[in-house]
Amino acid sequence: MSKKVRIGKTDLVVNPIGLGANAIGGHNLYPGIDEQVNRELLKTAINEGLDFIDTAFTYGMGRSEEIIGEVVKEMRKRQDLIIATKGTQKFVNSEKLIDNSPEYLRETVDASLKRLQTDYIDLFYIHYPDENTPKYEAVGALKELKDAGKIRAIGVSNFSPEQLKEANQDGYVDVLQGHYNLLNRQAEQDYFPYTIKNHISFVPYFPFASGLLAGKYSKDTQFNDFRSNMPQFQGEAFEENLAKVERLRSIANEKQTEVSNLVLAWYLAHDAIDTVIPGAKKPEQVIRNLKTLEVPLNKVEFDEISKIFS
Ligand code: NAP
Repeated sequence: MSKKVRIGKTDLVVNPIGLGANAIGGHNLYPGIDEQVNRELLKTAINEGLDFIDTAFTYGMGRSEEIIGEVVKEMRKRQDLIIATKGTQKFVNSEKLIDNSPEYLRETVDASLKRLQTDYIDLFYIHYPDENTPKYEAVGALKELKDAGKIRAIGVSNFSPEQLKEANQDGYVDVLQGHYNLLNRQAEQDYFPYTIKNHISFVPYFPFASGLLAGKYSKDTQFNDFRSNMPQFQGEAFEENLAKVERLRSIANEKQTEVSNLVLAWYLAHDAIDTVIPGAKKPEQVIRNLKTLEVPLNKVEFDEISKIFS
């Protein structure tokens, strides 16, 4: 079942369950990922009706974009998909720098187009703000790329509320991607009032809090990637979070669904949010996440989940 939605004020129409692709070719984030599994996952996702893919240069330093470009070309599906990517990090003498200058944005968009083997990007985000470029100038450069047909919509990510307002002074920002999940709800205060008022669609990243909210970890689960240093996976905090997830499980059981679907449905019930982009490492996780639209939440369930994580 797929009920398509429009992303904010853009002309991008998608299945609201997208795919966060930082584990596709993201060798720098997840050591040991298998590109053959990545390819199978993408093919399964697309064949199952997923049409919104979120990637970035920094996921494998271009590797994620390359794999997506190759698979989409092989499947001849470009026109059926909405591809979002992000740029702004660059390496100078092996030092990672963030650059929002118009010249660099033009360069990085061209490089993404090449890696993705396409002549347009549906949604391009400034991945991180730099310190020097006025944000309306950076977004102004993206508006020129939009007018030139290289990108179809403009996004910003990891911008502070002030940077977002500055970026949107001419009303050009279509999407804000920011950290938001049941364990980290600050965006409700910091961003949602502004994004709703200004028709900017909010795309939450880390919807499963890096897997914690997907309902399958126990206190004995070991992590060998960046999660081993994240506070939400440490000691008492980890155990408290797992206890909250268990409370979700009883609601999920009553609805004959999974915790992961309940969590994604909770985000989609927000006015501020049109789409979610959960990450996945196995094809079966994508198939499971796509079932979310079969479990709409009623108001009582929505409030109960909000309360568990208030
Ligand atoms: P996430 O969506 O919170 O968690 C994804 C992880 O949850 C998967 O890798 C998998 O981990 C587990 N999972 C997914 N579906 C599952 C299911 N049905 N059942 C059980 N487990 C499941 O974290 P994320 O992938 O880091 O974030 C989502 C996307 O947001 C990224 O892919 C990326 O596109 C974007 N992002 C953007 C920024 C930014 O700065 N703009 C930052 C971070 C992320 P395991 O298999 O390991 O358990």
